[in-house]
Amino acid sequence: MKLKNILLGFLLVGFLWSCQEKMEEKPPVKAEKKFEYIADQFADIKVLRYQIPGFDELTLKEKELVYYMTQAGLAGRDIMWDQNYRHNLEIRDALENIYTTYNGDKTTKDWLAFQEYLKRVWFSNGIHHHYSNDKIKPNFKADFLTYLLKETDTKLEGEAFDVIFNDEDAKKVNKKKGVDNVASSAINFYGPTITDADVDAFYKTAYKGPEGRPIEAGLNSTLVRENGKLVEKVWKSGGLYGSAIDEVIKWLEKAKGVAENEKQAKTLGLLIDYYKTGDLNIWDQYCISWATSTEGNIDWINGFIEVYNDPKGYRGSYESIIQVKDFEMSKQMAVLSENAQWFEDNAPLMDSHKKSDVVGVSYKTINVAGEAGDASPSTPIGVNLPNNNWIRQEHGSKSVSLGNIINAYNNAGGSGRLHEFAYDEEEIELEEKYGQLADKLHTALHEVIGHASGLINPGVGQPKETLKNYASTMEEGRADLVGLYYLMDPKLQELGLVDDWQAVGKAAYDGYIRNGLITQLVRIELGNDIEEDHMVNRQWVSAWVYEKGKADNVIEKIEKDGKTYYNINDYKKLRELFGELLREAQRIKSEGDFKAAQDLVEGYGVKVDQALHAQVLDRNQQFKSAPYSGFVNPVLVPETNEAGEIVDVKVIQPDSFEQQMLDYSSKHSFLE
Ligand SMILES: [Zn+2]
Repeated sequence: MKLKNILLGFLLVGFLWSCQEKMEEKPPVKAEKKFEYIADQFADIKVLRYQIPGFDELTLKEKELVYYMTQAGLAGRDIMWDQNYRHNLEIRDALENIYTTYNGDKTTKDWLAFQEYLKRVWFSNGIHHHYSNDKIKPNFKADFLTYLLKETDTKLEGEAFDVIFNDEDAKKVNKKKGVDNVASSAINFYGPTITDADVDAFYKTAYKGPEGRPIEAGLNSTLVRENGKLVEKVWKSGGLYGSAIDEVIKWLEKAKGVAENEKQAKTLGLLIDYYKTGDLNIWDQYCISWATSTEGNIDWINGFIEVYNDPKGYRGSYESIIQVKDFEMSKQMAVLSENAQWFEDNAPLMDSHKKSDVVGVSYKTINVAGEAGDASPSTPIGVNLPNNNWIRQEHGSKSVSLGNIINAYNNAGGSGRLHEFAYDEEEIELEEKYGQLADKLHTALHEVIGHASGLINPGVGQPKETLKNYASTMEEGRADLVGLYYLMDPKLQELGLVDDWQAVGKAAYDGYIRNGLITQLVRIELGNDIEEDHMVNRQWVSAWVYEKGKADNVIEKIEKDGKTYYNINDYKKLRELFGELLREAQRIKSEGDFKAAQDLVEGYGVKVDQALHAQVLDRNQQFKSAPYSGFVNPVLVPETNEAGEIVDVKVIQPDSFEQQMLDYSSKHSFLE
């Protein structure tokens, strides 16, 4: 399963990633200001760059492993293009040849439209929009393309030319009811005459693996009709896509040679065997080995994985993501985890609600070192694999959040929103200096300590039984409150997690209140209630402490030039209020007090002040953002000695989106 970042750019980053949801766009921290996050912008697309934190901390062997795995990933890039549509590669070749050899006027409307079309095709790995699945409409006429082809001595004829302009193959994946989904989808997973009924009939009798432990039937093949019979053309060495798969294998072999441990090497060996044989039983063995291989600093996703592009849900799109451990976050998590009992003992909970033997929850963020295929340029922000259910049940799965990708999304927006919604310079300065650290620490505290904390009273059921529809927002709010309570604690400094606990705490409190009472409203349409669990909990937490602290002016509501701000006057009292609410939230969970949960959530979390909401939306109008974002990859450049051995791997950023796309096409095209 992957969690795609979709729709509203920053607004939805993390939206689908339950516990990792970001509070608001973070302004870049000062030291990072020089990094240029935005590589390109066109049509409805923003192309970003990301860095690879921790890469320099890797050993040479680990760097080599990362390098070989990214090369393996890129070697299969064109498989994704061909899977997406049968004419994609032919069209791409022609468009790229025009783009690099045309010598005419490049300032005309037609040329600019051609260039935009090519960029959109690159971004989508083909001529259908990566998200809507609709065929991309060029803003130039067929005559102009004919002219360009002639001028550059390029060939593109017949169906491959016509389809750019006509209404054929209009939808990459058509899952609508009442139509033949296979026949009406342009995706290249099925031969030209194959219908829904053919696919159903074929898999009724096809081999499905051992009883109770089914293989992912159909995952790695194209289903075609040959001499009147349905057959699977398997994607493997010597089979369909064999020339590219051989290249993938070549790099996997090198990677296996520098694996970090035996388990990793064995896992890579299974992946190689699978690519050589196309045997889905071996794929399952690989998935088990991969899911249980948890040692090491490097991990990867490689294979035919997600089946969303198949209207019938059998065939996997080629994908590769190389992952480096997030060392900084892992250290923080480990420190918190080791001290979980201290946090439990010192929490403002009733004694009977404290655990005497608390164990920190494990949670994993990684940094991406390279993506290809289905995961690039448009990328997931979190991944949970393998997909095969019985493997998940018997052997577990890996769930990761892509830290540097989320970070790049958050940084790309700039600091405009902060300046608009923060009350004063002090608040802006604290946020710019400590905002990202505070945010990371809050996530770590929320996950490792928050979700692990507290006891349910004997005889009381699980929250989903007792608190019902309020269980989730109550749990998220409670975990947030654990984090908030400890974000303003000298213990964090004692543990070496911060160097100025008060400043970090202030930045954290400012950010939470600003978001909970104001900025998160930009995600909601005027007139609507707040519904999403995390947004609801942030409002009930913020609104409750605001109201309870009113008499002491803990948080002050300020109206200035027709704009509303919330300014925190007393951070110490605010911490006490967070503690009080945490105690109550835990009591509600421990006792299963449905009525109290309902009053808290409905009373503080759901309804929105309409005048304030309209004002916030109005203030937000100036910040326009492309609806879809994706990424160029950092380029890994091996440095070799005279003997040809790799002595180091350097990370450089590509000059531009088009440069990277052209570079990939020239270096990583292996399909005949
Ligand atoms: Zn959570």
